[in-house]
Amino acid sequence: MLFEGKTIQVHPLDDGIYDVVIDHKNDSVNKLDQATLAELSEAVKVLNDTADIKGVIFSSVKDVFIVGADITEFTQMFTVSEEDIIKNLHEMHAIFNAIEDLPCPTAVAINGLCFGGGFELSLACDFRIMGDKAKVGLPEVKLGIYPGWGGTVRLPRLIGVDNANEWICGGSEKRPDDALKEGAVDAVVETSQVKAAAIDIIQKANAGKFDYKARRVEKQSPIKLNQIEQMMAFESAKGVIGSKAGPHYPAPIAALKTIQKHANLTREKAIEVEAKGFAKLAKTDVCAALVGLFMKDQAVKKVGKGYESKAEPVNQAAVLGAGIMGGGIAYQSASKGTPIIMKDINQDALALGLSEATKLLDKKVSRGRMDSRKMASVLNSITPTLNYGDFGNVDVAVEAVVENPKIKKAVLAEVEGELKEGAILASNTSTISITDLATALKKPENFCGMHFFNPVHQMPLVEVIRGEKTSEEAVARTVAYAKAMGKTPIVVNDCPGFLVNRVLFPYFAGFSKLISDGANFLQVDKVMEAFGWPMGPAYLLDVVGMDTAHHADSVMAEGFPDRMGHDEETVLERMFNLGRLGQKNGKGFYRYELDRKGKPKKIVDEEVPALLEGLATSTREFTDEEIIERMMTPLCIEIARCLEENIVASPAEADMALIYGIGFPPFRGGACHYLDQIGLDNFCAMAEKYEALGPLYQPTEEMKNMAASSRKYFG
Ligand code: NAD
Repeated sequence: MLFEGKTIQVHPLDDGIYDVVIDHKNDSVNKLDQATLAELSEAVKVLNDTADIKGVIFSSVKDVFIVGADITEFTQMFTVSEEDIIKNLHEMHAIFNAIEDLPCPTAVAINGLCFGGGFELSLACDFRIMGDKAKVGLPEVKLGIYPGWGGTVRLPRLIGVDNANEWICGGSEKRPDDALKEGAVDAVVETSQVKAAAIDIIQKANAGKFDYKARRVEKQSPIKLNQIEQMMAFESAKGVIGSKAGPHYPAPIAALKTIQKHANLTREKAIEVEAKGFAKLAKTDVCAALVGLFMKDQAVKKVGKGYESKAEPVNQAAVLGAGIMGGGIAYQSASKGTPIIMKDINQDALALGLSEATKLLDKKVSRGRMDSRKMASVLNSITPTLNYGDFGNVDVAVEAVVENPKIKKAVLAEVEGELKEGAILASNTSTISITDLATALKKPENFCGMHFFNPVHQMPLVEVIRGEKTSEEAVARTVAYAKAMGKTPIVVNDCPGFLVNRVLFPYFAGFSKLISDGANFLQVDKVMEAFGWPMGPAYLLDVVGMDTAHHADSVMAEGFPDRMGHDEETVLERMFNLGRLGQKNGKGFYRYELDRKGKPKKIVDEEVPALLEGLATSTREFTDEEIIERMMTPLCIEIARCLEENIVASPAEADMALIYGIGFPPFRGGACHYLDQIGLDNFCAMAEKYEALGPLYQPTEEMKNMAASSRKYFG
């Protein structure tokens, strides 16, 4: 063995070729953490000093090649100054340049996932062989940065500016056929053959069949486009990339500008430009938020896995109710591989539930993401029924009938009688207490909440709600089922609105108060959308449905009368009483018409201001800042309460629930991260301005204590 590190070993093969084998012993995947990079640096030095070396291949013994840099090290790495970030990047460049400059041909055997820093390592090699199941890509923009180990320099010189702009600024994963077509890899072979193919290409290069030295010159020289061609390529991309990224995500445009800036430079100079721009991005709040999200997502997944490991598998599911939610649950379960019985009391509802599932599957087939055989098997695994015939085989049954406690209790008690010993029963209620629903059951320990979001196939979050008597087995099995459905389950304790709606309704209360103080709802929507929400509060109420929101609002008011009770007429009540239910009947705060694709299109309705007359005693101007503060303050304080009351176990789960459940702006990292960024002292001082608006605007004692002792939710 030429070099033996903990993660990297260099083995001699035949004919003077060496195999740099990557095997991260402490992890299920390979990643380029600082320790691995230090070993890589040593290994390359040894290779460089090896006489008569004829070739080097890089390979992995794991299923993945290299998933990228170690993101868990980013927060620490980015706390230092820009100058120090640049210094650190140059140390990495020295390793990658040394690989590129080895005195023999080099090839990489990409057997599995190969992203970010892993793909940048591949780009430093002369040849790239890709397995037919592998994926490659540079997803750094998703973390608010761009490739910083020479990726922005090497890729455009290898595959052309237009393609590289798309790869780097879009951050997407690439399949073997695309990677090959665009020239990012030299060959695609069966996974088991990647190493042999890498050796083969080295031998061919040594035999003079491929000029690896010419390739190196190309990767290290200015881009081969004249000034006019460059201007056309970059200026036309700016509009497309800028509008796709939106105003809150600076990394894609920064990447494009960096590629443009170093287009006419040689490797050494170009890399300096890349490093400078990278360091700037690494210091942004957006990067901190997005890196934080990655870590929180990992933390949430770990909690989920913990439950999953304790759970019995779910081989057969059932759903009660074939409506909007029941139909969605059936589709999702079946399409992810868990057969499901869909029971309703109404034949038409069953037919509608199945036809919705068919539509979604048809779409997948027409987009080439599923073949018709798979579609048929998914549809076959949904069993529509009007009776309880096969319920004896069911492991988990999800109740999704109308939101009425009496009906739900009756249905739950009835189903319980049909289920086998140990089967789990869950309710998809959005508001009704799980502890209360459990009173209808003989075995409340086998019951919990399983709150999906609409539309089920698109929304990633499932709140799993633990009632007073729910057993940990019931929670674990429900979490396991949600994960099997491809969802992100977050376990919360029972309370009115659970976690997400409990936090959302104070935000809607903030909206109502703004309207009663004379704000214009169109301005509020515009400001909150510019803040980063996918829709403003009025638009969101239209989408949720005024009847659904009105009902949930009354549950919240009853559950938390001190904070959420109200005597005065709210804008939500006004719209509900006027029958302006939102998208579902075409009229809410906005008017809706179907566009060419059959999707509801929002239109400003001139009639609405007159309908809202009398809600506000006067009108006045509101600054954008005041609107943001008045909308966000109640939401942030309520999330703090949920943490203090142990409704949710951690700030990480709280932030992910809001991002996955209601589209909290990801670049702001979630409500707890947002509070940390503002600083709890600043937040509490700001909230004082609005104290007169009531208890929803008054920070908790714990928040004040945290502010006084400079504590944060994270770190
Ligand atoms: P829906 O009205 O579309 O569907 C309810 C279905 O239940 C109907 O098909 C009805 O025929 C059926 N049903 C009624 N009684 C039944 C019984 N005894 N046995 C079997 N089926 C019966 O309602 P939905 O929007 O799908 O909501 C269902 C549940 O999901 C509610 O508790 C609701 O609060 C909750 N939820 C809804 C949303 C949403 O956005 N729609 C989001 C999250 C949770």
